[in-house]
Amino acid sequence: MPIRQLAPDVAAKIAAGEVVERPASVVKELIENSIDAGATQIRVDLSHGGLQLIRITDNGCGIPPDELPLALTRHATSKVSIIDDLEHIHSLGFRGEALASIAAVAEVTLQSRPRALDQGSQLSAQNGQFSEVTAAASPEGTIITVRNLFSAVPARLKFIKSRNTEVSHCHHLLEQYALAYPEIRFNVFSDGRQIFATPGDGQLSSVLVEVYGLQIVEQMIPVHSEEQTDSTYPVITGYTSRPTAYKSNRQHISFFVNRRWVLSRMLTSAVEGAYHSLLLTGRHPIAVINIQIDPSVLDVNVHPAKTEIRFLKERRVYAAILRAVRAALLAEPEMPAWEPGP
Ligand code: ADP
Ligand code: MG
Repeated sequence: MPIRQLAPDVAAKIAAGEVVERPASVVKELIENSIDAGATQIRVDLSHGGLQLIRITDNGCGIPPDELPLALTRHATSKVSIIDDLEHIHSLGFRGEALASIAAVAEVTLQSRPRALDQGSQLSAQNGQFSEVTAAASPEGTIITVRNLFSAVPARLKFIKSRNTEVSHCHHLLEQYALAYPEIRFNVFSDGRQIFATPGDGQLSSVLVEVYGLQIVEQMIPVHSEEQTDSTYPVITGYTSRPTAYKSNRQHISFFVNRRWVLSRMLTSAVEGAYHSLLLTGRHPIAVINIQIDPSVLDVNVHPAKTEIRFLKERRVYAAILRAVRAALLAEPEMPAWEPGP
């Protein structure tokens, strides 16, 4: 076969596959946009596990009418302007491709009203075709509706699990964002039923209660690293469980680096290392660990989904977490003396 350029819609669907794997990936991108827009209230509605509908309503800064088509255009972003900015990323988004990717595999309606305008506007997109921007009565903020996800991508649809599985992936993800942003009020509905809500009072402990329940939260203790003057050293804060509270897997150890939710074996093993000899095999702590660090010693641009990051000085971060969690456990009066590991 001769080499040929892919048709634009095929190329768009392939690129979309990197960002949009399942309903929870759509929710993640939309939530991050709402957070970047400064929202203090975010409502999520799902139907049929997000496959039929995902709607995110926020009270963020909104999008001006003339920028609605740009929001759906690949590599168009209001967050990174020059290449140097990539070294100093303070927003969750920066690639400018999430909305475009979602629009390549679903029907998207954007409705928005910036704070300064007294009228809203809207735009729909389907199969890469945009509608005209029209006026729409809308509250301050942005409402993004994603319908019939993957209905034109049967290959992807085959890999989607049951609706319940998809809902629980979305639920887990939203719990993580709520933990990272206690000042944001989250409200999550699945098929019309509220499945998760947070008060938005700025207290991590309030979110912990919603996620883990009061009984577990009473078993959690605050974690914080010692004072740091060098910003390239991480500052650690959060909560971790007393050895009396535990789970049977590691999924309840959450990490946020500069408020970005990340997955990392290295960080997980640092927390678990602090429990050495305090927890029996097969028992895992519950923890929420916030890592604040100078963005210049980070690379968040490792993967389009941005849940993986690289630290320039990995050992430093590992040691800081291990030390902070261990100190929190040792500060507990009834704790047995900690024995160093092998
Ligand atoms: P990125 O977040 O990487 O910039 P996206 O494709 O996710 O790329 O979004 C494109 C642009 O659309 C954003 O840069 C932002 O200007 C705008 N946008 C998207 N969602 C919202 C929202 N909820 N509120 C305000 N602006 C938004
Ligand atoms: Mg984004």
